[in-house]
Amino acid sequence: MEWEPAEELTNESTRRKMTILAKSVRMGLMRVKFWGVRGSTPTPQPENLRYGGNTSCVEVRLKDALYVFDCGTGFRPLGQQLEHESKGKPVLAHIFVSHFHWDHIQGIPFFGPLYDSAENRFIFHCSSRTRSLKRVMEEQMASPYFPVDMSEMKARRDFYDIEEGRVPLGDEVTIETRWLNHPQGCMGFRLESKHGVLVYATDNEPGDPIFDKNVRKLAAGADVLIYDGQYLPEEYEARKRGWGHSHWREGINIVMESGAKELILFHHDPDHDDALIDKVVQEARNYYPRVRAAAEGMEIGIEQAAAQAH
Ligand SMILES: [Zn+2]
Ligand SMILES: [Zn+2]
Repeated sequence: MEWEPAEELTNESTRRKMTILAKSVRMGLMRVKFWGVRGSTPTPQPENLRYGGNTSCVEVRLKDALYVFDCGTGFRPLGQQLEHESKGKPVLAHIFVSHFHWDHIQGIPFFGPLYDSAENRFIFHCSSRTRSLKRVMEEQMASPYFPVDMSEMKARRDFYDIEEGRVPLGDEVTIETRWLNHPQGCMGFRLESKHGVLVYATDNEPGDPIFDKNVRKLAAGADVLIYDGQYLPEEYEARKRGWGHSHWREGINIVMESGAKELILFHHDPDHDDALIDKVVQEARNYYPRVRAAAEGMEIGIEQAAAQAH
């Protein structure tokens, strides 16, 4: 079957967007929206704004279910959107946290739906190998780092400790997790449903045979691979070894070796402005055509997998 790029909705008019989204939710299509795509630290400078300055946060919708990958500063505007949409109805989401570096948790204290209502429920999934997420959340909001403490959060919070393996999430949706190569560890996630397979694997340094295999197993045959494209290959070689990140060339190696269909470069370096990211995408497409860079606000729909994979 001819490959077609996942549908991008960024440039559609809002009205058309809403129609498409409403239709896709009815159809059970997997929708993915990027709320934060920057690595390491927020970068709200004008030269970065087309791709965006907020740190890691990706939303996935499947029918009525909501899944979120990481809680960087992009988690805050996602919360605003959910408050806007809920119109007083409870918000329920599964939230997967890859690891506890700032750029993956800093949005938590600013996520409105955690404070709004006792009816809201958030199911957090992450490894407790270094610390429990509950403790991380308490610590990040402790005096003197934050003005209010966690007791202000009314929403119900459940914490699930996950290690490598597969966990059914109901409604024929499964999450598979594997460790990636990153200081203090980082988990990669594969969200499988009959409508499509999405892999979220960021903060991963290539070069270790076990982890190289892990990321390829996660990506095997996926419709979309969201992958760490922090550095240029030459930056990595020259001075960034051991910092726990990857580059676009390795992303292409992974999709070509794993049979993933599309690569989305993610976790852009704070020093990479829009013009540089454009150049990266252009160059990467010389090696593999189905590459793009994640941008804040970008939405994609995954649907063709249903026919092919099941
Ligand atoms: Zn990171
Ligand atoms: Zn990290």
